[in-house]
Amino acid sequence: MDGIAGIAARMAQIQALVAPPQAAPLTTSTSTFASALADEVAKTTGSTGNVASAAGAARAGASGAPARLNADGVPVELARYGNGRIPESALQKVGGTGERLWAPAAQKLEQLMGAAAKDGVHIGITDSYRSYAAQVDVAQRKGLYSQGGLAAQPGTSEHGWGMAADLKLDAAGQRWMRAHGAEYGFVKDTPRESWHWAFRP
Ligand SMILES: [Zn+2]
Repeated sequence: MDGIAGIAARMAQIQALVAPPQAAPLTTSTSTFASALADEVAKTTGSTGNVASAAGAARAGASGAPARLNADGVPVELARYGNGRIPESALQKVGGTGERLWAPAAQKLEQLMGAAAKDGVHIGITDSYRSYAAQVDVAQRKGLYSQGGLAAQPGTSEHGWGMAADLKLDAAGQRWMRAHGAEYGFVKDTPRESWHWAFRP
């Protein structure tokens, strides 16, 4: 921890040096700061890791992809594909299941399921990423929210962005999710669907 505390202290010093209040635009000071930080990290840890990996790790925790949303609340790296039109290769499998989600959501859900299992609680997945065509099918079978049903308008579902999973939960599983889901970024945002959990990074 001394190393990390040392880096934090040096970061503050470097920031003061390279980004005084009257200094250049943020982009300039940020990149200057980034390279100074990289040097400092390499000195302190003896590693040759670059600042991109250091910054990525800081953003996402010890492991995992960075979770960034655009102004529409959509994963930055998936936005170009469109809701329900994301190729499998751009999504990540949730552990050993065949289910796929946006990478940060998949990683957190895998961690969540592991933690629940340690508590003796089994959490299964019944649905995850959903294609546009699959959402059309669900809407036909379950009806739209706007008409009292249980499906989002195709093209608007959180499933279409790989940001929600439908979970198979018994009573213990429901209790566990309500107690711990948010620790992994999963929240219940759909009142009538106890199974639907959305990822909010
Ligand atoms: Zn759902």
